[in-house]
Formats: sequence, structure tokens, C-alpha cells
Amino acid sequence: MGNSSDSSQYISTRGGISPVSFCDAVMMGLATDGGLLVPARFPKVEADTLDGWRRLGYPELAFEVMRPFVGDALPPETLRQLVQASYATFDTADVVPIKTLDGKDLYVAELYHGPTLAFKDVALQFLGNLFAEILRRRGGRLNILGATSGDTGSAAIHGVRGKAGIEIFILYPEGRVSPLQERQMATVPDPNVHCVAIEGTFDDGQRVMKQIFNDLPFKEKNHLGAVNSVNWARILAQVVYYFWGAFRVQELSGSDAPVQVCVPTGNFGDIFAGYVACRMGAPIARLLLATNENDILSRFFNTGTYAKGTVRPTLSPSMDIQVASNFERYLYYRLGEDAGRTKTLMESFEQTGTLSLDGTDGTFAAGRGDTAATLATIKKYYERHGVLLDPHGAVGVAVAEANPLAGCQTLCLETAHPGKFPAAVAQALGDGSPARHEALEKLKELPLRKVILPPTIPVIEDYIVKTLAGQA
Ligand SMILES: *Cc1c(COP(=O)(O)O)cnc(C)c1O
Repeated sequence: MGNSSDSSQYISTRGGISPVSFCDAVMMGLATDGGLLVPARFPKVEADTLDGWRRLGYPELAFEVMRPFVGDALPPETLRQLVQASYATFDTADVVPIKTLDGKDLYVAELYHGPTLAFKDVALQFLGNLFAEILRRRGGRLNILGATSGDTGSAAIHGVRGKAGIEIFILYPEGRVSPLQERQMATVPDPNVHCVAIEGTFDDGQRVMKQIFNDLPFKEKNHLGAVNSVNWARILAQVVYYFWGAFRVQELSGSDAPVQVCVPTGNFGDIFAGYVACRMGAPIARLLLATNENDILSRFFNTGTYAKGTVRPTLSPSMDIQVASNFERYLYYRLGEDAGRTKTLMESFEQTGTLSLDGTDGTFAAGRGDTAATLATIKKYYERHGVLLDPHGAVGVAVAEANPLAGCQTLCLETAHPGKFPAAVAQALGDGSPARHEALEKLKELPLRKVILPPTIPVIEDYIVKTLAGQA
């Protein structure tokens, strides 16, 4: 194992902060110089340690993978308990079951066994427990404000519901998220959960949220914080299943060869966690990045140019992203950990919407799966192999089929339960589609708890203040 005092100290990709501890990095979210926080170095896992890790159950493995990144910021027993509590809410002891997809070279990692049936639970169940623990130690309160178009809001709510010292306010566009997504948020009965349906679009919600975060006196007075995808703890929790998945595929296939992992991508968070696992020494041969028609990332890996386009709505909405908020972390490593160049390139990207790099990185390959491929893949795997994919996972499987790696098995990450996207699955399979989940059916009977408000700063700020005062 490397020097854990380095791997548990966090610096900014733009070089403008002194190193901070794991807990400070978690509470900071975005680095105060506008960059993203990264560990000062990656711990290197030796071969005999890896062999020991193979035999661990998921929560034990999570503890071992995370420990060098936490260092002495938390006692080991505390970290162990946090991890155990976070994954006890999953509906299977394996947490992330790994299965064969076609009986041959393709495997699938079911990342959807958490409370909201999507992979964001893997990170947000842990982040919620971590926030509560840090507040318990340091005192103080945290009031989370987020704007969502669907998946992230419900995973964040389920991560912090009922936690002492935490309130959560989630803004979403009234009438513009699916009824199912709204129910996953607004049926949660815990009094620390506040769903705000705004009379406007997702962009209106985002705008109001950003403006409130920019109102620094308001933000500080009301202890506002975010749970966005750049929080280091979210990346860290995701590193675990890359080790887990590669071990299980090697076991199932009876081969020692390193594994290719195919990742359907939006904000580059999930696949950056895979990059960290590779740097640590996980038995992974290559990361295969999969995008839908919003292909800024697959274009980058195939041409070297990262150029912003306009967002096109697809059947895999959680990947309908043009500017990937975690891309800067990768850029920093690609530039040889040169914070000065990272800052210059990112600032110029913010002005021009484009940046170019020379050379390639053999750790990555990339491809794109469009709407036709998504639908055909859902149909094919259901009819031929009896496996029901969700549209995000299907993008990944389509790209995996087109990009085999000689001598390697491929593990495809399945990021959501198909029951969360019944309309897309029905479009692929026709009426009477089997895409349903009992937990989602049950929500239909529960009452909604929400307020409907216009997306203006004074109204939303006033609602936050009054709600917090009512609970003080
Ligand atoms: C968020 C999400 C993704 C994309 O994950 P990133 O970390 O943004 O790359 C893919 N699939 C589903 C179902 C998601 O909710």
C-alpha cells in the first residue's frame, strides 16, 4: 500500500488551495479555487493485497478500498460502520450482483439494488451517512439545496432522509419529471425532506439554485451545501465496484486475464472512478466509455477534441449532458498533474467551448450508441437471453458489442433498473412490457408531499428560511 498520508490529502486540479483532509474535502465539494479536489497521490495496491481483497464481501472490500483515501480523518471502526450502514439498505447482500449477459464474453454489473433503483445510490447512501457523521463530530448543520431533472434528486433524498442535523430541499420542474420520478421524491415521509415543484423548466430550477449559492451571506447564514456529482466521496464510493466487478468476472469466467469495463457515461463521474481503480492496480485492461447521441466524451476520446454541442433529449436522459462536470479531474492526470495547464485549458474551454489534446491514452476506448441501437439492444437481450436492460445500460451493451478486446471478458455497467424507464422499454418491446418493479408500484398508493412555487429567488429563499425556522 502507498503512503496513506498522501492519498488522504486533497489538492485542487487548479492548484489554488493548500492540502485538506478527507472530511474537509467532503464538506468543501468543489475546491474553493474553482477546481476539483483530487487525492495528492493514488495508493498502489500490491499483488498479495489484491489477492486478499478477492475474498472479501462487498462492504468489507469497500472499507479496504476507501481506507487509504480517508487516512486518519475518521477512525477505522467508524468508516467500517458507515460503509456497513450504507450498503445494508440494498436489497441483496452482494450489493452489486455480477451476472453473465450472453453466456459468453459479456457480463453485467447490476448497480440498481439500492433504494431508488439506480446506481447513484451506491454513492449517495454513503455520502448521506458520511455527512451525518462529520456533523456529529464537528457540530453544526447542513441544509442541502439541489435542482434535479429526475434521478439525482431522489437518490440524494434517500441518502439523507431522517438524518440528524441535515435538511434537504430539492427543486424540480412541476409536470416535467415523470410521475414515477416525482413519487420517488415526494412520497418520502421524513420531515427533513422538502420537495419544491417549481412552475418552470429544469433550467429555471438550476438557475435559481446557482443564484442562491451565489448569494454568499444567505448561503453562509443558512448553512447551505450541495450534493453534486463532483463531491470526492461520490467518486470514492464508486471505485469499489470496479475492483468487485473485475474480481467476480475473473471468478465466473475462470480466467486471470484483466477485464474490459464498459461504462455508460454522462458527467464522467462513474468512469473517472474506474480510472482511479485502474491507477490503483485493479485487474482492468481497458475502460470503454459509452455515450448516447450527446457524444462530447466519445468524440474526445476518438479525436482528441473536447467540443461542446447542444443537448439532445434521448431515451437515456441521465446521459443527456454536454459538459461533463468530472472531466477536469481526468484532464489533470492526462496533463501529468500539471495544475497550471489544467487551469489555463479549463478557463479557455469556458470561454470558447472547445479544447484539444495531443496523443492518446490506452486506458480508454469510446463509442456511441444511438436511439436505434438502444432499442435494438433492449429487444435482443430480452428475446435471446431473457435479460431486461434499461436504456442507459443498453447504450453501454451496444458499445461493448462493437468494441470487444481480444483475450478479455467485458463487464457492462447497468446503471438503472428497467422499471424506472417503462416507456423506453415498451418502445423496444411493445405493449405489455415487463419493465416494472414492485417498490415502484407501491409508491402509487402513497400521498405526495410537495409545495409548488414560482422559480424566483425571494420566494425560494423565503421558503427555505421559514421551513428552517419551523424546525429550529
Ligand atoms: C447519472 C446516471 C448515469 C451517468 O453517470 P455519470 O457519473 O454522470 O457518468 C448513467 N445512468 C444512470 C441511470 C444515471 O442515473
